[in-house]
Amino acid sequence: MVWHVVIPQPELRTEPLGKFLLLVALGAIVYFLLRNYKRAIARQQDADRHSEPDASASGEDMVRCAQCGVHLPRSESYLSEGKLYCSEEHKRLGSGAR
Ligand SMILES: [Zn+2]
Repeated sequence: MVWHVVIPQPELRTEPLGKFLLLVALGAIVYFLLRNYKRAIARQQDADRHSEPDASASGEDMVRCAQCGVHLPRSESYLSEGKLYCSEEHKRLGSGAR
């Protein structure tokens, strides 16, 4: 039962260079696909990271001035003694009135 060892493999013998080029092309395609995929993932994560503070600053996280009652984004408010104010002046008035 030695005969099956010497079975010729025509596709490997006739075109070794073509096989090699095919492997190189496949490797290149996989490489580029993986690189694009990783870049897309990174860009998606980057967008998620950047969009979070934007969403909260664009109206979802609104606070109320303790002095005049005006609503403003939390990022633009002034915090004093646990209360939020719309401006430095109201912060001074609010904390000074107590
Ligand atoms: Zn105010």
